[in-house]
Amino acid sequence: MAMQLLGMALARCSRRERKRLGNIPCIVQHVQQLNAATSIDSILGPMITFDEACLQWTRFISRACFMFWEGKCDASVSRSSAQMLLRDAVQWIAFDDNVAYESARNTYARWKGRPEDVEVAHYYLLSFSMQVFVLLHELGHVYLGHADGRSLDLELSRSRELEADEFALQRISGSEVYEFDFMAIDIFLRTCALIETVNPSFHAPSHPTWKDRWRQFQKTASDHPKADHVAALDEVEDLFSKDIAPLFATNGKVTKKTGEKPLHLRGPGVDHSDGLAMNVIIPKVSTRSPRKGAAFFKDNQ
Ligand SMILES: [Zn+2]
Repeated sequence: MAMQLLGMALARCSRRERKRLGNIPCIVQHVQQLNAATSIDSILGPMITFDEACLQWTRFISRACFMFWEGKCDASVSRSSAQMLLRDAVQWIAFDDNVAYESARNTYARWKGRPEDVEVAHYYLLSFSMQVFVLLHELGHVYLGHADGRSLDLELSRSRELEADEFALQRISGSEVYEFDFMAIDIFLRTCALIETVNPSFHAPSHPTWKDRWRQFQKTASDHPKADHVAALDEVEDLFSKDIAPLFATNGKVTKKTGEKPLHLRGPGVDHSDGLAMNVIIPKVSTRSPRKGAAFFKDNQ
């Protein structure tokens, strides 16, 4: 799995970059933490670790998005299942909630194998594109010389994170599947920002906020020489402003009408007036502190 991902990430790099980054050990750790990290091994040099939970998380949110989209064109697809999957996935990550994880897994398993579902391949690709972005970010740290073992002040650390993001975005901008990748990254960053809003303690101080990372992505995407990616990003904007943000719009209440599982997210309400679902309205801190390591894709750089 790790090698497959690495191959996909390197395919978006130049030949020179591939030569330099192609031998970086990349390992998927089978632990339930959301973390991707670049570290320096005294023998191997720079190496990248990618936690299994990252893979599962990107599958959940990709699947939920496709379920929303399917629900729009096919009345037999239940939108409430899409909502449930997304809420459970966010609950799992925001509060390290294993019950929510099991529930998300059940919904996911129920839907992913439908034989009439022509979108199955697409949603897998979407989750791969998200994973490739995370991996390219880590490769960016190596390529840009960030893996130097220095201890950094917060400001330098945050600026390095944005540089690594930009490294990844530039590789993707030049790829043939940039439109699809951009859509995946948009969903990924927006959903991360949503989690950060639901549980503010989730944001790692060494990193820029997810909202800031999303802003940088938007700038890069809008500067792209080909304008045709805009259609895909409009779809994402539409999905988040109409379908996803309202799910988290009020504290503890779902805005959908009937037969819904009650929203069990504990955390601040969210204002989606900017279409991002990121502004905290009711600051209400969870009584449960997230476990160590839950600083979501926090890496060592
Ligand atoms: Zn990083």
